[in-house]
Amino acid sequence: METRPATKILLIEDDEDDYILLQKVLTKIPKGHYTLLWERSYTSGLAFMLTGDHDLCVLDYRLGAHTGIELLKTARNQGYNRPIILLTGANEGDIDILALQAGADDYISKEQLQGELLHRIIRYAIERKKAEHEREMFISEQIAAQELESKRNEFIGMVVHELKTPITSLKGYAQLLYKRCLRTGDEQTAQFASRMDTQITKLTALVDDFLDVTRLAEGKLQFVEDYFPFDTLIAEIVQEIQFINERQTILQEGITNKTIWGDRTRIGQVITNLLTNAMKYAPGTERIVVKTSSDTDTITLCVQDFGPGIPKTLHNKIFNPFYRIEKNQQGAAPGLGLGLHIAAEIIKRQKGHIWVESEEGKGATFCFTLPIDREHN
Ligand code: ADP
Repeated sequence: METRPATKILLIEDDEDDYILLQKVLTKIPKGHYTLLWERSYTSGLAFMLTGDHDLCVLDYRLGAHTGIELLKTARNQGYNRPIILLTGANEGDIDILALQAGADDYISKEQLQGELLHRIIRYAIERKKAEHEREMFISEQIAAQELESKRNEFIGMVVHELKTPITSLKGYAQLLYKRCLRTGDEQTAQFASRMDTQITKLTALVDDFLDVTRLAEGKLQFVEDYFPFDTLIAEIVQEIQFINERQTILQEGITNKTIWGDRTRIGQVITNLLTNAMKYAPGTERIVVKTSSDTDTITLCVQDFGPGIPKTLHNKIFNPFYRIEKNQQGAAPGLGLGLHIAAEIIKRQKGHIWVESEEGKGATFCFTLPIDREHN
């Protein structure tokens, strides 16, 4: 007993003989299971196409004063999206091509109208349409997801931007308070003000990271590029970080003597991030090593620490936005998991590479390369 539902075929055809012929052909198809619906005119056919229940439409090329191609175009313009097969007579020239151009899925001439061929044409047209719909759905879902993501980024960007003004003002007041208390000799309050300032600096860094990721996602992270000597930048940053890091000694190895082309502040941001991570994730250790080297095409910088290291399976993941290794593995170091993602994007935009070399328990070495501008070296 047949359990699957019949495929409903709408025939739009003004000649009853052709209807009877098609009915006969369809009934004789061994594996076919078809119901044939029939409309005789352009107008009733169009009305059924747009509102009636069916799976596929077979359209005759000759429809009284109209042609099947006119009907095809009108229906497609009105959003008809089921498969259409055009039925052509003998010697009707290039109608097959015109039909396909107008939006038909296939055509068959009345002389060729025999079961097996028709069965195949119908099945293929239905399956092709289904695949086309699925593709369209997939694309429109992707577009919707992108729009949502872009709105979300816009919103985060707006909120974070609004946070910047009060934070900057708070920082100014904390510093003012610190200086006043020192002047009046109130050392305890001065200490509180100084701690407030440190916390506000951390808050500013978080807000800046958020702003950077939203700008990155929108492709709006600005780069101000110029030539600059690489070694001076490293020396400045190492000095700055050493100033706030009393526990570990930062050792510098190597010199490049190279001038590079890029955004000095952004590249500095990457080096700062690698050094602060080394401080943060290797807290009980004594040394951090910054190694630099160069060849004719690139400079390389590596920051090595002697902390807990990173399992090999996570080497790629740590560069993903918001990715952090489980707390129980790394202690409770604060962070949002954005620093390495931003660093990787900056290095990529500056035409370099970034990677990590590490084994669990054996420290971590983060390295990046940047191209050298040959004309200036
Ligand atoms: P955050 O430090 O805010 O978590 P990052 O993107 O800088 O974000 O780092 C992502 C994760 O990579 C960190 O949460 C940490 O688990 C791991 N990680 C980064 N640097 C080191 C390091 N030097 N040693 C061990 N783990 C690290």
